[in-house]
Amino acid sequence: MSYNEIRDLIGSAGTKLKIPKEKIAQISEPKRVIETSFPVKMENGKTRVFKGYRVQHNDARGPYKGGIRYHEKVDLDEVKVLAALMSLKTAVIGIPFGGSKGGVEVDPRTLSQKELKRLTEGFAKSIFESIGEQKDVPAPDVNTNPKIMKWFRAEYEKLTGQNAPGVITGKAYRDGGIKVRDEATGLGGAAVVEQITKTILKQKPEETTVAIQGFGNVGNHLAHHLSHMKFKIIAIADIDGGIMHEDGLDYHATYKQRSKGEKLPSLCFCSIHGPSKDCCEVSPVKILEEKVDILIPAAVGDQITKANANKIKAKVIVEMANHPVDAEAEKILKTKGISIVPDILSNAGGVLASYLEWRENVGGVKLEYEEAKTYLIRKMKKATSEVEKMALDEKVSLREAAYLIAIKRIAKAL
Ligand code: NAD
Repeated sequence: MSYNEIRDLIGSAGTKLKIPKEKIAQISEPKRVIETSFPVKMENGKTRVFKGYRVQHNDARGPYKGGIRYHEKVDLDEVKVLAALMSLKTAVIGIPFGGSKGGVEVDPRTLSQKELKRLTEGFAKSIFESIGEQKDVPAPDVNTNPKIMKWFRAEYEKLTGQNAPGVITGKAYRDGGIKVRDEATGLGGAAVVEQITKTILKQKPEETTVAIQGFGNVGNHLAHHLSHMKFKIIAIADIDGGIMHEDGLDYHATYKQRSKGEKLPSLCFCSIHGPSKDCCEVSPVKILEEKVDILIPAAVGDQITKANANKIKAKVIVEMANHPVDAEAEKILKTKGISIVPDILSNAGGVLASYLEWRENVGGVKLEYEEAKTYLIRKMKKATSEVEKMALDEKVSLREAAYLIAIKRIAKAL
């Protein structure tokens, strides 16, 4: 997805909502783009200069909020897209944050731990004046983690002389993070799936078949919660391949063996027959084409394109990965009557948990684990209902409806 596409989507939502042109223009462009290069002393005594970005898209509804990724292919257009999507995501689920994103052009696998720490401190030093608990709140993203965020926070606190636990979210629990964070995106997705099964498919979880591409943090927690809700998960695949059983897979047995290091295609646990030999192998690409009620891409972006859109047989696609369905595929899926629950809604559980963590850090509002889970499920279902209502009222797709709600809220705040 390019930034031009985002501009067009915001523009057409704004026009439909009859928002004045000056406001659409403000929402269409990032408020600030920080491009920085900073030196890092390497272990061999030489200095390398790295390039980093922080794009602050919109803060009309609250402090900017968005992750920091480390990747050799980070580029400014991509960071701008991701920052704008964060503004839309926080608006559609109704939390008082704006949207931002950051990135450093680096392959972190090539750095030692000391170099990674110095890189993080160097990046923090180069952007710290624009960051803050009430200004812009980063979090882990691709190739960054709670440890890296802890280094970032320590450097920020050193430079500002403040104690600022809420300057980042996604902290480890012992460092002021919250317990629900790890599972929050998957749990939020499960709440959305439960809701649309009732409203779109009009059937019960136990009669609803699901296929999940991706068995990492998101896919795993999602499968865990869906299996507790009694959904029939008939196929799971990750980068190494996958398995299928038409009577449903036993998620817990599969997960247990998988965590011992075994690869998915070698495992077969059926939820009815137990350990079984009846599973079929399914590739990470072919799983997308299985005949299921709900297909959940939870791995990486651009998985459904015009090359395979015609082969999709699911009734509903719930986007857990960011941008797994591209624009051309979406047009084809629309003609086939397949509904798509958009990423800015379905994978918003993580940022909802970030909000709870930040609120606890800066406002002292603490929720216990079960309360946090209940809050998350309630907010996700409420946002889903609002998007469904807007789609019905305006006769648009769920994605367009989510954009309409988000743009309307941002414009109101502006
Ligand atoms: P992860 O790295 O933990 O897991 C990724 C999974 O996808 C792994 O099982 C991997 O084997 C699989 N995979 C990778 N490439 C694949 C391919 N080509 N085909 C099939 N499977 C493949 O990542 P995650 O945290 O679970 O995130 C998954 C997606 O959800 C990403 O697109 C991410 O941007 C998005 N997302 C994650 C969060 C979060 O809180 N973790 C929040 C919002 C969005």
